[in-house]
Amino acid sequence: MKTRPRCECCYSQNIIKFGTRKTKRRGKIQRYKCEDCNKTFTINDGFKHNIVTHILYSVERTLKHCCFAHG
Ligand SMILES: [Zn+2]
Repeated sequence: MKTRPRCECCYSQNIIKFGTRKTKRRGKIQRYKCEDCNKTFTINDGFKHNIVTHILYSVERTLKHCCFAHG
């Protein structure tokens, strides 16, 4: 099962492919654009290794957002 990449800004999955970016180290990298916040970003290979950290970070962000919302 393939998981769709998420926006690194708002974690929306409402993203579209936005061309490719060339780097010296890793060659072609697919770029994406978030249709919710219009931010462009790339998915790097290290993401899978850092997925637990990423999830924890997301939860932390969400909690902070909630606290902020409640003032
Ligand atoms: Zn976004």
